[in-house]
Amino acid sequence: MKIGNIFDGSKTALSFEVFPPSRDGNIEELYRAVGELAELNPDFISVTYGAGGGTREKTVEIASTIRNKFGRETLAHLTCVQATRDDIREQLDRLKEEGIENILALRGDPPKGEERVVKTKGGFGYANELVEFIKLNGDFSIGVAGYPEVHPEAPDMEHDLVNLKRKVDAGADFIITQMFFDNGDFYRFRDNAISAGIRVPIIPAVFPIFNYKQISRIASLCGAKIPPRLHDKLSKVSEKNEEVEKYGIEHTILQSEDLLGNEVSGLHFYSMNRSRHVMKIIRELPKKSFENNSILE
Ligand code: FAD
Repeated sequence: MKIGNIFDGSKTALSFEVFPPSRDGNIEELYRAVGELAELNPDFISVTYGAGGGTREKTVEIASTIRNKFGRETLAHLTCVQATRDDIREQLDRLKEEGIENILALRGDPPKGEERVVKTKGGFGYANELVEFIKLNGDFSIGVAGYPEVHPEAPDMEHDLVNLKRKVDAGADFIITQMFFDNGDFYRFRDNAISAGIRVPIIPAVFPIFNYKQISRIASLCGAKIPPRLHDKLSKVSEKNEEVEKYGIEHTILQSEDLLGNEVSGLHFYSMNRSRHVMKIIRELPKKSFENNSILE
């Protein structure tokens, strides 16, 4: 099923992100988590595309397993840094062979040790060019990334939204956001996007915190700020993972409840391949949040 059609206003879609384990990581562990996440009856599960190196080939394999073995719709991420048009065409062919109909089209981050993305000869400079290429080379539903706190390379939100609109004009059907911890940032971004003429669904994405060091690193890399009150709580228990996880879950539940009460088309969870705490959060949300979701009845 095309994910673009899921956001038709009839319900709030539920979705999760997982990532391929590193080369020596445990794929069985990932599939165990996927199995548990699948039981929550999500509308789709997305699979990230490694920023470089060996996990890239795994994205199609995992997305295909989610679709064909677990019977859940899937969204395969695809980045265009360090790739030529031929590389991307090959990847699109592999996705078609596996019956995967949905792509999250991304530029990608600079390779390790480099500060800027340099356009690959015969490749693409920005995600809007990738969207255009996918549109011409297949019948996919296409999602793109949006940044409630502005992409770290953009001078301001106005410029960032002009670029977001380029991706929508090129054919994107929906937007999934970067993680954010203060819903005010999301609502401002959504209002500004609508004012900028962006008319496709914008799906907020939340990140259940479970490790202080990890979230400090990830949040600073992607430019997401942790609200001072939450930061204070977390930093006081920073070495005690169980307490960090407890505060993280509490925050995500409150954040999700508020988003669900504010007309979001969907809610996307960065699961970090951890099903247990995502399950705890989903079970705490109002029963009618995801209308077709039998697990919540
Ligand atoms: P773009 O939309 O190309 O934007 C990049 C920057 O360039 C922005 O500052 C934008 O304002 C500017 N810009 C865009 N178009 C133009 C233009 N035509 N002219 C001038 N400036 C322009 N990374 C991975 O490696 N793998 C993943 O699986 C992955 N999944 C992600 C999922 C989500 C939901 C999100 C939010 C991010 C994900 N990322 C992933 C990270 C993403 O690759 C980075 O944030 C990257 O730096 C930007 O990608 P983009 O597609 O938003 O780029």
